[in-house]
Amino acid sequence: MAIITGQQYMDRIDALNNDVWIDGQQVKGKLSEHPAFKGILQSKAALYDLQHESNLQSLLTHQVQGERQVSNFAFEQPTSLETLQKRREATQFWAKQSGGTIGRSPDYINTAIMTLGSSASFFDERFRDNVKNVYDHARNHDLSFTHTFINPQVNRSPNYVEFSDKEDIIAAKIIDETEEGIIIHGARLLATQGGITDEILVLPVGGNAIDPAYVYAFAIPSNTPGLKFLCRESYAKEGVNHFDYPLTSQFDEVDSVVVFDHVLVPWDRVFLYKDLEGVGKIFTETNLNIMLLFQAVSRQVVKTEFLLGVAESVAQTIGITEYQHVQEKLSHMIMTHEIMSSLLYKAEKEALANQFGTMVPNPKPLMTASSYYQREYAKLVEYLHLLGASGFISLPTEQDFDSAIGKDLNQYLQAKGAPAKERVQLFRLAWDLTMSSFGSRQTQYERYFFGDPIRLSSSLYQSYDKTKFVADVQAFLQNNQSSSKK
Ligand SMILES: Cc1cc2nc3c(=O)[nH]c(=O)nc-3n(C[C@H](O)[C@H](O)[C@H](O)COP(=O)(O)OP(=O)(O)OC[C@H]3O[C@@H](n4cnc5c(N)ncnc54)[C@H](O)[C@@H]3O)c2cc1C
Repeated sequence: MAIITGQQYMDRIDALNNDVWIDGQQVKGKLSEHPAFKGILQSKAALYDLQHESNLQSLLTHQVQGERQVSNFAFEQPTSLETLQKRREATQFWAKQSGGTIGRSPDYINTAIMTLGSSASFFDERFRDNVKNVYDHARNHDLSFTHTFINPQVNRSPNYVEFSDKEDIIAAKIIDETEEGIIIHGARLLATQGGITDEILVLPVGGNAIDPAYVYAFAIPSNTPGLKFLCRESYAKEGVNHFDYPLTSQFDEVDSVVVFDHVLVPWDRVFLYKDLEGVGKIFTETNLNIMLLFQAVSRQVVKTEFLLGVAESVAQTIGITEYQHVQEKLSHMIMTHEIMSSLLYKAEKEALANQFGTMVPNPKPLMTASSYYQREYAKLVEYLHLLGASGFISLPTEQDFDSAIGKDLNQYLQAKGAPAKERVQLFRLAWDLTMSSFGSRQTQYERYFFGDPIRLSSSLYQSYDKTKFVADVQAFLQNNQSSSKK
């Protein structure tokens, strides 16, 4: 099979009958017809369809070695600078379809599956084949995954440890082991697209694990008995249309709390088991973090271009581009774009093959880009707000234009650069990108999706070799000492 069509993807998700809850109800019937999910399912389906277009196949697919089939680009282990570059270009091509607003397009976690599968020898001998088999299976069937790597936000104080027995477990943990597999009970956060993917990848929670019951990694089908996805309310309500909510209506991914109710994880799906040493190493030694960051920063560059394009269009439409403070805001957005692109370029050009043969981008520019963007994205959003001002509030709907007040709207909402309806369409896009529920989530997403900004900055600091700079300063001081004696 290898590459699927959009229809095959939607049919497969519908057939899984995943246990998905939203608005106090369990979803009965097809997810692809449910107002909360149909927009994002169709958008993902469109991504899958692109890989069948003959002029895009060389970009979006790759030839599986020794087989006749092609598979999706994200499953290709990059082993050269060329294949790494192609991976970035394909990611950016997919990201462009949503202005970079789909954070978890299938290539995100499929990059994780590829990275883990390619570094199978890192894993304990008992689990190596599992990792490899899941990778092969995912690649051969073009699977999509959601993922989770954090515990519920109960008590984040430094000394908090959950002491729980079977009755009062909160954070998901191993409660039993049988011949068939391990039993997981409890909850995990925050699976974006939980319930609308084929499988879920469960990674260990970072930090200093002290209780082996919390140390595990595995991938299982989303319809595994006992697995439940408790979704936040959807921003894409019934009646949300493309004109009024151009992004919400198509790209609201929906996030979910994942509940494991005595879930049996078969042994052949286990990657890591009660291995206190393996917790951190699974992210670092396999280079999982860096390969994910490469995907994320590639997407963020596209998203920055989109924001810049929207901001410049808004400015041109209402004739404000000649003001210096407007230029200053737009040039700040340009700088962000150039900084992010340059960091991505440097990371890619300085890639080196790791011990598993994967061409891994230079981590430092990628860690810098992701930490920078966690803070920077909110500023880009603020600049857009400052440019559009009340224009992002006086926003009639498409229905208003079609009503008796349409004539008034056409007269009074026209702008220098566009007739009223076109201007409103553009301003609604800017509003949906930054101010609607969907837009606010985008800001929170860019701050947090890869982890806490504070701890990520801290890990950049800790992993960054500062020895040479300190030595240079010491040498400078030494030289100064001798001159003061003169
Ligand atoms: C829109 C969105 C989508 C997401 N999608 C996914 C997903 O698909 N899969 C997934 O697994 N996760 C996902 N996440 C979760 C993401 O991984 C977490 O938000 C991130 O790791 C931070 O954890 P937290 O939200 O629990 O924040 P917390 O850890 O609870 O932090 C809350 C505050 O306390 C501070 N704090 C807490 N602990 C410490 C500490 N030890 N040292 C210093 N400061 C501390 C933080 O700096 C922060 O200010 C998503 C998050 C968002 C917002």
